[in-house]
Amino acid sequence: MSRRWLTEDHRIFQDSIRRFVEKEIIPNIDQWEKDRQVPRQIWRKMGEQGFLCPCLPVEYGGSGVDFSYSVIVQEELTRSTCSGVSTGVRVHADIVAPYILHHGTEDQKRAILPGCTTGDIILALGMTEPNCGSDVAAIRTTAIKSGGDYVINGQKTFISNGLSCDWVVLAVKTDPDAKPPHKGVSLLLVPADAPGFSKGRKLQKMGMHSQDTAELIFEDCRVPQENLLGQEGQGFRILMKNLQQERLVICIGAITIAEKMLEITIDYTKGRTAFGRPISSFQYNSFKLVEMATEIELGRTFVDALIEDHLEGKDITRRVSMGKWWLTELANRVAYDCIQLHGGYGYMEEYTICRLYRDVRPQTIVGGTNEIMKRILAKMMKL
Ligand SMILES: Cc1cc2nc3c(=O)[nH]c(=O)nc-3n(C[C@H](O)[C@H](O)[C@H](O)COP(=O)(O)OP(=O)(O)OC[C@H]3O[C@@H](n4cnc5c(N)ncnc54)[C@H](O)[C@@H]3O)c2cc1C
Repeated sequence: MSRRWLTEDHRIFQDSIRRFVEKEIIPNIDQWEKDRQVPRQIWRKMGEQGFLCPCLPVEYGGSGVDFSYSVIVQEELTRSTCSGVSTGVRVHADIVAPYILHHGTEDQKRAILPGCTTGDIILALGMTEPNCGSDVAAIRTTAIKSGGDYVINGQKTFISNGLSCDWVVLAVKTDPDAKPPHKGVSLLLVPADAPGFSKGRKLQKMGMHSQDTAELIFEDCRVPQENLLGQEGQGFRILMKNLQQERLVICIGAITIAEKMLEITIDYTKGRTAFGRPISSFQYNSFKLVEMATEIELGRTFVDALIEDHLEGKDITRRVSMGKWWLTELANRVAYDCIQLHGGYGYMEEYTICRLYRDVRPQTIVGGTNEIMKRILAKMMKL
């Protein structure tokens, strides 16, 4: 596989994050899964090594490199199989920090971004509400001007980094009567200590146990009007623009975890014997492994092309929507077949594949469900 953008510097960076993952993350996964969280200390350690938000400009504490370095971080953290770290960092660094970098004022950037590179500040994105997920324009959380503040009322749910976050980029309605409704959506920067903001339940999920997903509650929560991110009424447009990178990040996660699951399963099936032979050598199983390897390689080629287009600043909306649905379904198919090839051991907690089977499930739901991807594509194809 040739990646035109991969230089010697990328390889050195990749080696250092691989060593970090082996020493600091892999030995702790079981404990963090039991604790249902990862400690703040691991964020700080990643910050010390320059693994958090490397793409931020140097004046905000980053390394001033391009998105390709984020790709390396995402791939290595995904390969660690620790959802708490990989998803947490992905949301923080590649999904939420860009909102502040691209749409924040100088004061907002200086107040928040340097802490994001050290692990002292963790970011979350609050869009989804108990009654509204896919239809973002229908959110009901309101932010109404009062004196020099916005007063926020409403609730968010399923928020990644919800309990650990220090700042939330929050989607609100500043004009609840706007027509069409999406013109009433704005984004606010809300600190965790804002009066009237409380964190609700840590949600008990099917998988991704070490990953923090929570409810956020706003009861007459006040933030200064200077905390508006971008302009009033522009929130929906900004969300739709930034969702393209979010979907690319999901594609990268999906293909990388599919590769990892196949690697684990090839090792297992070569070592396990039945009827006096490695189970990988039975024709049905070898064909299954070959089919998975083929689909994964096709998917990888597509993802790498998307990464290149994104690095060149091209509009990836159409192809990233295709990739998001196809690659996340591929990852789920691979998980299903890998469990089957592990036999009963695949269903046992001490086998990594068991955890990964659960952890890949929400990929078809997050970042815009796969049905929403097909809706976008159907519209683009004028169907
Ligand atoms: C682990 C996890 C982490 C998450 N992290 C975050 C986060 O950090 N921040 C955040 O804001 N949200 C987050 N979410 C929420 C996620 O983005 C939503 O769950 C998702 O957008 C779907 O919304 P919903 O759950 O309300 O489903 P609904 O919108 O109720 O959809 C239910 C079903 O109906 C289908 N459907 C809806 N509309 C259509 C249509 N027009 N055509 C065809 N089918 C349709 C959907 O595809 C889905 O299958 C997270 C979710 C999970 C599971």
